Amino acid sequence: MALSGLEIYKLLPQTNCKDCDYPTCLAFAMKLAAKQASLSDCPHVSEEAKAKLEAASAPPITLVEIKAEGGEVKVGNETVVFRHEKTFYHKPGLFWRLRDTEDLEELKRKVADADAYHVDYVGIDLYLDGFAIEAVSGDPETFKNAISAILSISKKPLILIASTSDIAKAGLEGSDGSRPLLYAADGENWETMVEVAKQGDVPLAVRADTLDELADLTQKIKAAGVEEMVLDPGVHHYLDSLQQLTTLRRLALKKTFRPLGYPIITFPGANEEVDETLLAAEHITKYGGLIVLEEFNPASLYALLVLRQNIYTDPQKPIQVQPGVYEINSPDENSPLMVTTNFSITYFSIANEVDGSGWPGWLLVTDAEGMSVLTAWAAGKFDAERIAKDAKTFNVEEKVSHRKLIIPGHVAVLSGELEEEMPGWEIMVGPREAVDINSYLKAMWTK
Ligand code: SF4
Repeated sequence: MALSGLEIYKLLPQTNCKDCDYPTCLAFAMKLAAKQASLSDCPHVSEEAKAKLEAASAPPITLVEIKAEGGEVKVGNETVVFRHEKTFYHKPGLFWRLRDTEDLEELKRKVADADAYHVDYVGIDLYLDGFAIEAVSGDPETFKNAISAILSISKKPLILIASTSDIAKAGLEGSDGSRPLLYAADGENWETMVEVAKQGDVPLAVRADTLDELADLTQKIKAAGVEEMVLDPGVHHYLDSLQQLTTLRRLALKKTFRPLGYPIITFPGANEEVDETLLAAEHITKYGGLIVLEEFNPASLYALLVLRQNIYTDPQKPIQVQPGVYEINSPDENSPLMVTTNFSITYFSIANEVDGSGWPGWLLVTDAEGMSVLTAWAAGKFDAERIAKDAKTFNVEEKVSHRKLIIPGHVAVLSGELEEEMPGWEIMVGPREAVDINSYLKAMWTK
């Protein structure tokens, strides 16, 4: 748990020498507690106090990074139990589980399909994060070949599922040049798995049936030299998932219980009695770090990716699109010109309606700091001056030969001011809802 200013002060020399550029040790302690100063600014702090302060300032959930040529997945470093307290930082990685007993050509075909899966969601590219490959064969060479086959098609990060250290070692040889997660150390094999993880400098998953056993294992593994770990508490139902994963998050954050302060890996499809997509959705919301799916089903994956995107969006920073003039359905100089804000959902609502209606059109998207129309107007971020300025910045006069601008019906009040700001332009008040754009244009737009 983070130390208060007074607790930090007790660990400082208390000489008020000012060498840290603060007038007193207490002032420095307060800045340290607020994370606005660095401990290294005090040259007189003792080694013992330094160790205590550094331990207290370490993240309660260790950051774990797995990567490959084509990307990386970082999980951990979360600071809150509930998203509304601040935000969640590192999106859980979604992986598809494959097996090394698969025919290599079939394996490549599957990987190519999943690797190519990309979907655009309000301007954000969503995709599967990587592959988990399991050594079902029990043969190191077969495992290595399967990994090479995957890497010949995809550059995404990997999770290597191996039950013995010799197979794990072969897996790391096969994935040379990347940094996979090694899964998993347990009560039986942890000592040899630790050696393989250390040799490859890769993170290690730890599996146990109870939280006590997990905590016991992580302490032993840490003492043996592996810092980056991922926990598998073996949850396969809705209720035990909720209980165990919430307990882990609370122990890590509320009690600063370091032995369980690691990201969590889950396998929501391991139990045939539960709906994999539903359980994966639960793990996205509470509190999976790496989620390994049995099935690659684009429809389910899309739902999970969108859910993840929404849960891991900072509630104080709306998703935005780039301000500018957007073309819809190949517009020309006679096409209608509409204006809106750069809040993604607003933009896509309008763009999709215009696109679906078949009308060619220009959409001027102003910089309203990612707020929706009414919110931006109320906050003074979508006013006549700003619209006129962006119309000029993005050269709308060169796009259209007419001088008509359609504003959202919700801000009809801006029409008078806008006509003053944009002399020679006719300001038309559009519909309040995007869904009415087609009927509005049919009734009001004359070329
Ligand atoms: S340098 Fe250290 S001892 Fe000196 S005032 Fe700052 S905190 Fe206190």
